[in-house]
Amino acid sequence: MAKQSLGYTELEWTCPFCSTRNPGRAKVCGNCGAPQPKDVQFEQAAEDKIVADQEGLEMAKAGPDIHCPFCGTRNPGNAVKCSRCGGDLTEGEKREAGQVIGAQQTKPAPDIICDYCNTPNPASNTKCKNCGSPLGKEQPKPAAAAPRAAPAKMNPAFLIIGGIVLLLICGAIAFFVMQGTRTESNIARVSDVNWKRSIVVLGYAPVTYNAWADQIPQAAEVNYCSERERGRSAFPTDNSQQICGTPYVVDQGSGFGEMVQDCEYIVYDDYCEYSVVELQPVGVIDETGSDLNPFWPETRLEQDQQLGERNEVYQITFDVNGEPVTYETTNLNEYLEFQPGSDWELEINGFGNIVGINPAP
Ligand SMILES: [Zn+2]
Ligand SMILES: [Zn+2]
Ligand SMILES: [Zn+2]
Repeated sequence: MAKQSLGYTELEWTCPFCSTRNPGRAKVCGNCGAPQPKDVQFEQAAEDKIVADQEGLEMAKAGPDIHCPFCGTRNPGNAVKCSRCGGDLTEGEKREAGQVIGAQQTKPAPDIICDYCNTPNPASNTKCKNCGSPLGKEQPKPAAAAPRAAPAKMNPAFLIIGGIVLLLICGAIAFFVMQGTRTESNIARVSDVNWKRSIVVLGYAPVTYNAWADQIPQAAEVNYCSERERGRSAFPTDNSQQICGTPYVVDQGSGFGEMVQDCEYIVYDDYCEYSVVELQPVGVIDETGSDLNPFWPETRLEQDQQLGERNEVYQITFDVNGEPVTYETTNLNEYLEFQPGSDWELEINGFGNIVGINPAP
């Protein structure tokens, strides 16, 4: 983020002795004449006006004011000797600076009502236009106390329901473990055998991808591009747009504030969809059968096509007491053992799955 200065704005300080608001540049109170003490804070004025007068600008840029170590008088930041007692200011205490005082006031501030004669005055006035009394700050209305939420109590019904749910879950887990471990031996006869073999066919075809324009491979065909935000930058680039946050006032310690804005650049770039021709699956050819003689499908490839992955799946259906139970394998040698009509001893678990196969005794 880069900081951008929009100029300077005059701050205010309130006299601790008579509560009069004074312009930031005033070194003594305009009402009672008291010099500004060290511990008085500069505050944002009700309306931010950019300082245009030469004297004000010089004061604003002179750096934090220095309070004389001998008599306490406030001197400009570039002064070497105290304007009142002539004391050396090199050991003097500089005012605090650099704090953010507040966001830029863009709305006109409400009028200030004079405490003595009830006359409404523009917020920038420090004295009543009618009676000349010093004008204080507008008192903020006290905010209504937010009702405090009562701490939530656990409803006992939820505890009971929670306990029941927990018991049901435990019971379900126990049931599944038992069903999985409990097995039964059955004599079964092979009633059916099936096989399926397939081969993936690979061919060259366009595949679509998305990327930034400068990341597209050379051989690609660009379909279309559109501009998108690619990132943020502190500096302008070929194709960027500046965005800035709300301006805010930073205390300069001189009775003035600098109006600054944090800015950065949104960098735009072309994001494109492109196609490249790649070897990829374009089809599958398969062969099936219901015997113990599986074979690979016959392949007729077009130009530029190649064969890809091969898959084989074998399925054996047993007759278990009149019920069909199937078993699947990818192992050809295992499959070839299951002659239709042959008898086997099956271990079947509680879910009806075959977990063990042995030749019938
Ligand atoms: Zn005063
Ligand atoms: Zn002095
Ligand atoms: Zn008045």
